[in-house]
Amino acid sequence: MSSQNSPKVRVRFAPSPTGYLHVGGARTALYNYLFAKKNGGEFILRIEDTDEARSTQESLRGVVDDLVWLNLLWAEGVDPVTLKDQGPNGPYKQSERMHIYKQIAEQLLAEGKAYYCFLTDAEIEVQREAQMKAGGQPHIQSPYADWTLDQAKVKMAEGGTPPVVRFKTKHLKKDYIFNDIVRGEVKFPSDMVGDFVLLRGGGMPVYNFCCVVDDHLMKMSHVFRAEEHLPNTLRQLMIYEAMGWKAPEFGHMALILDEDRQKLSKRKGAVACGQLKDEGYLASAVLNFIALLGWSHPEGKEIMSVEDMVAAFDISRLNPSGAIFDRVKFKWMNAQHLRALPNAELWKAIQPFLARENMQLPSDPVWQDKSLNLFKPYMEVLADAITLYRPLNDNSYLIQPDAEEVMKLETTKAVLTTWKELVQAHGAEYMTEEEFLKIQDEVKNKTGAKGKNLFQPVRVAVIGQPHGAELKILVPLMKKQSLVARAEKALATIA
Ligand code: GLU
Repeated sequence: MSSQNSPKVRVRFAPSPTGYLHVGGARTALYNYLFAKKNGGEFILRIEDTDEARSTQESLRGVVDDLVWLNLLWAEGVDPVTLKDQGPNGPYKQSERMHIYKQIAEQLLAEGKAYYCFLTDAEIEVQREAQMKAGGQPHIQSPYADWTLDQAKVKMAEGGTPPVVRFKTKHLKKDYIFNDIVRGEVKFPSDMVGDFVLLRGGGMPVYNFCCVVDDHLMKMSHVFRAEEHLPNTLRQLMIYEAMGWKAPEFGHMALILDEDRQKLSKRKGAVACGQLKDEGYLASAVLNFIALLGWSHPEGKEIMSVEDMVAAFDISRLNPSGAIFDRVKFKWMNAQHLRALPNAELWKAIQPFLARENMQLPSDPVWQDKSLNLFKPYMEVLADAITLYRPLNDNSYLIQPDAEEVMKLETTKAVLTTWKELVQAHGAEYMTEEEFLKIQDEVKNKTGAKGKNLFQPVRVAVIGQPHGAELKILVPLMKKQSLVARAEKALATIA
């Protein structure tokens, strides 16, 4: 790809800071990032914040933080901490590039490739209705298209509603054909669009115009973006042509669909990267999962690090058909990434989750390691640590209402007393699984209780309820004093 003759690979992710980073946006960012890394190119972050009413600083902060969390870091764009410009081709926020768009619009106006249009909304609506009735594609027929710039300036000087600047299309009577990296040849008939707006009445430029100006001035070699932008590409190609600029290569990625093949919606589960993080998905798993929504590894590899993806990334494997967001598979994949983490890292990763319940757990790394070895097979998302560790947290020990029946059994008091005594008599601070099973056997021999009458009271003494997590896993993680104190609490409810 990056041979001597082809331009340096430069790609961008260009979010509009009007909301959160959606998994679809993250996938766009990832593919651009992988393509840049694979080709020794550069990945740029541009902020498309020309929608003044909807763009917010909080959203920009959130999108930047999510990209940092995913470790999709950019060479140019905004500084991830200060959000100030960073790089030689800025400004990178479109709101700070207004003078540039104005200048290019003036050039197009001067060359007669764009014109001031004074049509009112009402006049446009009348045209549209008439064209719809006639059964054609509704396109603007502006009487101002052939005005000279001087004529327009005279009218502007008279005051009134400021005109929009429209791009002139009527002389472009040809089909636009381009080779999309993902979809192959795409053909747009010349009459697909009418004269479209470049600058609104107040001088505010529209997306298609800013996008072309910026992609050109920021020297983008390729543009990978969502399929929904395909119709925009026609307008953009027209602007490139009018400016005499070489257009980048385009690749439009297929939609991400829900299991029922509808557009991915948040009603079925998290679609925001921030929410996935909150639910305990690892950044590495999110990247792995979204990478496979529209791309596949040449050897069919499923579990991959970003390094694996960079090494194998090949745009010929981008898939033009809609990708299904399979949440069950996503969770499974997260579990694979989570279980592959070294315990010390996993321990760090679960801390924010344990902190939600203010858990007081041992600070001994040996204990932490041991607990993770036991719990890991039951963890799919980091948040699972909460339910797994909760029984070990002394502050959370409570006799649950469903223990009531067990506490009434004739043999329960004897079982609890014997259990408590045997635990107390145990030599070491912790007991092994075998030692626990032996003690439980002894309780059985001494009290004659067996089955439910034996196991359920012991469960209540350890976790406060007759059902739930396996004791042979939990007990070896609990200090003798803690087990004794719990047994005493349970006994107190009988007395
Ligand atoms: N700001 C546009 C979006 O968020 C970017 C489109 C593009 O990549 O050209 O959809």
